[in-house]
Amino acid sequence: MSRYPKPMARLIEELTRLPGIGPKTAQRLAFFLINQSSTDVQSLAESMLEAKQRTHYCSRCFHFTEDDTCIICRDSRRNENFICVVEEPRDVIAMERTKSFNGVYHVLHGSISPLEGVGPDQLRIKELIARIRPEVEEVVLATDPNVEGEATAMYLARVLKPIGVKVTRMAHGMPVGSDLEYVDEVTLSKALEGRREL
Ligand SMILES: [Zn+2]
Repeated sequence: MSRYPKPMARLIEELTRLPGIGPKTAQRLAFFLINQSSTDVQSLAESMLEAKQRTHYCSRCFHFTEDDTCIICRDSRRNENFICVVEEPRDVIAMERTKSFNGVYHVLHGSISPLEGVGPDQLRIKELIARIRPEVEEVVLATDPNVEGEATAMYLARVLKPIGVKVTRMAHGMPVGSDLEYVDEVTLSKALEGRREL
């Protein structure tokens, strides 16, 4: 790092901490930023800070929002009695891209993973159970098609079914071991259509 002036070394170090950014990419980004105008760099820096400070979780579904509830929960055209359970906010974005789901979401913020010490209590499961009122028609489990996602779906089915709600799982056909976020829209939309009752 001593090859760089101190402020630049710090920038490269900070960039390296970002996911998917190795030292080479960090260096390339740093060089790029330093060649930009101060106005452009300031705008980027401010957008990062503003996104961080003004984004929090929806009090109902735990998706990202700027307000108390997210735009999906506030949309009266959505069927609030059809709940799609996903692991992360980015999965909501993936499902929304398909344009084939008109219900609402519940974001768990992770999946059950004994290896990583994540149990049901660390996820938004209590909050999900609290949302299951008698009017709720169906809960579709759209956790990732990998070991943790399947384990989470099985656990949820076990706790939700005794409440008397219909619980379904996204159909197979999604690449096993994958991340919902990376599944293309058509496959995701078909998986939703072909969901099966648990
Ligand atoms: Zn919401």
